[in-house]
Amino acid sequence: METYRTIHSSYDVEHIRKDFPILHTKVNNKSLVYFDNAASTQKPLSVISALQEYYTTFNANIHRGIHTLAERATHEFETTREEVRKFINASAREEIIFTRGTTESINLVASSWGRAFLKPGDEILLSAMEHHSNMVPWFIVARQQHANVKIIPINQQGEVILEEYEKLLSEKVKIVSIVHASNSLGTVNPIKKIIERAHQHGAVVVVDGAQSTSHLHIDVQHLDADFFAFSGHKIYGPTGIGVLYGKKHLLEAMPPYQGGGEMIGEVTYQGFTTNELPYKFEAGTPNIADAVVLKHAIRYINTIGKDNIQRHENELLQYATEKISEISGVKIIGQAKEKISILAFTVEGVHHQDIGILLDKEGIAIRTGHHCTQPLMQRYGIAGTNRASFALYNTKSEVDYFMQALHKAIRMLR
Ligand code: PMP
Repeated sequence: METYRTIHSSYDVEHIRKDFPILHTKVNNKSLVYFDNAASTQKPLSVISALQEYYTTFNANIHRGIHTLAERATHEFETTREEVRKFINASAREEIIFTRGTTESINLVASSWGRAFLKPGDEILLSAMEHHSNMVPWFIVARQQHANVKIIPINQQGEVILEEYEKLLSEKVKIVSIVHASNSLGTVNPIKKIIERAHQHGAVVVVDGAQSTSHLHIDVQHLDADFFAFSGHKIYGPTGIGVLYGKKHLLEAMPPYQGGGEMIGEVTYQGFTTNELPYKFEAGTPNIADAVVLKHAIRYINTIGKDNIQRHENELLQYATEKISEISGVKIIGQAKEKISILAFTVEGVHHQDIGILLDKEGIAIRTGHHCTQPLMQRYGIAGTNRASFALYNTKSEVDYFMQALHKAIRMLR
């Protein structure tokens, strides 16, 4: 497939915006400015129409059927698996498990690997910037297995303190589960280095790629990640579908996560044998439609090109960071050297929710609150932030409009 770069010499954001019908709708009689991309991205027409095509032309259950529609649905489902494999450069299709999303992917590892291999006194390392979905599953399994969760601290800019991480590493550490890019701070963690150090201590590393996958090149072999999780809805794809990548030898050693159809080899009145990978971890009828459609989101990203996307988003982040720094009383939360396009901030004397409500009246969607990282908010001594997060279709003029509306909101609220 030709890349966007070869089709368009410069990044044509107006052209890209035409692919996203929702961007042309009005919200509260204002043109929509969608800056809540870290929560969920909007979908291009190719994704929307692929969903319609699935239900109107080849909807059927997969794998077990011998009729034409079942074969077509199975083929399209498995084609996505292969395209996901290439997208993150996994070495084998057996290593790609379809889940509901990042949350389910992490729960799968915590529950299956954790219950099989964690022993009393073992340690699980998480960073101070984890999303609840990369904390709670570990707390649950730690309680069951009498293991301990320890937290890798961060500095005020929002970066993992590598020296502190080194100090926490020991033979007791069995799992390091860490976010690639933070949804609350934007920080991109030095994940390759973190994985390398964990491996030197024999620990298994789980990477939460929910935020990184739409912005950064992902190469699980280069990173040497043991597990990598991401969600379709944050990469311009549908909700309800996500991926767990796992190294084959680890997945093979793990017991099933759920029981049911598809994950079995044979069932008798006495018990069962498990199916081969990846089906061992895909019990029941999966989310066929959204898995089929997910490849259209991947193709869309590939057509534009991750380098182009990154360059565009970095420009927006830099521009917005400069502009917002001119507003008095605004404090940016998350000032790491390496960031994805997330701008989180507080405004002195003004509650984040009030700002969110006033911006919504102007058609601007941002997120306010703790962003499912309550411990991180406690770390900064705040209740929450305002978060603007930019995607490949956002523009500088939207940032300008946002800044004007923010000025106006702050004037009204102070
Ligand atoms: N981790 C991070 C860093 C996230 O940003 C999110 C979504 N906000 C998740 C995990 C959970 O993803 P999902 O809700 O799609 O399962």
